[in-house]
Amino acid sequence: MVNARLQKILLSENLLPIEQAGFQPGRSTEEQLAFLSNSIYEAFSLRHHVLAVFFDLQKAFDTLWKASITQQLVQWNIKGRMLIFIEQFLTGRSCSVCLGSTISTYRHLNNGVPQGSVLSPALFNIGFSTICQIIPPPLKAVIFADDLTVFLSCRQSQKGEQKLQQVVNKLAEWTTSRGLQFSASKSTTMHFCRSRLCTRNLSITLHGSILPTPPTVKYLGLHFDPTLSFKKHISEIKKSCYTRLNLLRKLAHTTYGADTISLLRIYRALIRSKCDYGVPIYSSATRTDLNSLNVIHNSALHIASGVFPTTPCLNLYFICNELPPDLRRQLIFLRFMVRTLNSDRTLFHPSALNRHRTYYQKRFTPRMETALELLRLDSSALSDPDAARLLQQATEAEWTNRWKSQPPMLQLLSIFPIPQPFLLTSGSRKNNTVLHRILTRHSRLTHSYIFS
Ligand SMILES: [Zn+2]
Repeated sequence: MVNARLQKILLSENLLPIEQAGFQPGRSTEEQLAFLSNSIYEAFSLRHHVLAVFFDLQKAFDTLWKASITQQLVQWNIKGRMLIFIEQFLTGRSCSVCLGSTISTYRHLNNGVPQGSVLSPALFNIGFSTICQIIPPPLKAVIFADDLTVFLSCRQSQKGEQKLQQVVNKLAEWTTSRGLQFSASKSTTMHFCRSRLCTRNLSITLHGSILPTPPTVKYLGLHFDPTLSFKKHISEIKKSCYTRLNLLRKLAHTTYGADTISLLRIYRALIRSKCDYGVPIYSSATRTDLNSLNVIHNSALHIASGVFPTTPCLNLYFICNELPPDLRRQLIFLRFMVRTLNSDRTLFHPSALNRHRTYYQKRFTPRMETALELLRLDSSALSDPDAARLLQQATEAEWTNRWKSQPPMLQLLSIFPIPQPFLLTSGSRKNNTVLHRILTRHSRLTHSYIFS
């Protein structure tokens, strides 16, 4: 109840900085990532360098000073019972460790917000809220809970580096005054640019040591590389999906094993969801890289439906009642655009820039136009109150078009009227497999052994 009231005050009076998206209704990590990547693409098109520092806070929730939270509340004129409640909520906490039947002595906790409490995220946001005031433009910041990234787009990298260093020093001071500490070994820097002449070296120091610049940086689950090609991210997805595919293989067999519906459920939970995260951002990668992900989807669907690997992919998607991966990516991308364009509280405002600039097509607005064109929609569809349904319908229509335009030889055998979605709702693994193989024209002549 206290949390709901506190959140209401914070939201209605816009007290938290817009850069902070953690623990806030209707905001997401993808939105922060989109803002970062779109800003970098905009800098690329102006032939600028983007210098970024990805900070790592050590034990942020445990070390934040209580006084910084209560002081901030007083500054915002949140007083009375709310303040007394929060003060008392944060004082007099103690903890002990229990191992077997032995319990250690109680230790008094002076700092930090309680882990696991519903109120803690909001309190952390309050204590962390003034950090944006010491990041002056043109520097920009994206924050998700305690993950802070500060970046700067500049024409000359040396001058930019000096500016960034000044802000890093200020941030280090600010965090120390709040009881927090950046980890110099885990915080990283990155120099984003497309120039081949650029050395891409950064020597930003924090607490006296130079921050490392690895070849790729993982921020909010996405691997960023200096040219924003997302090659590393895609290869990481593939790596983790291949091990998950082995799990599917173990569960499936031609004559015994889990039925198609269960296998598809596992595919959707373990593999498809993994690929879906970050699609609005990493779908700016090259078509070759994106298509290499389709292989994973196709193998998973082959395993789940039991058809032979030579089956055309479209048949496979039809049998499994799945959208082709490229259409699915477009749909997820457009859904994301609908969410952010219709949201009044967001950092991310994709802008239309000069079309003649290089890397124009990588940014969000042109990609949105291309996706809309593919689905034969105009941009008004995105602001429609029923946009989600419109997008779904348009995607399905496009899918049906593709399906019908196949040559007759590749289409499924119509042995009986096929209901849509026509997956068998019951039946054993063997029955599923046999039906799917007959439908895809793998007949007794060529594959007699499965019918025995
Ligand atoms: Zn550069």
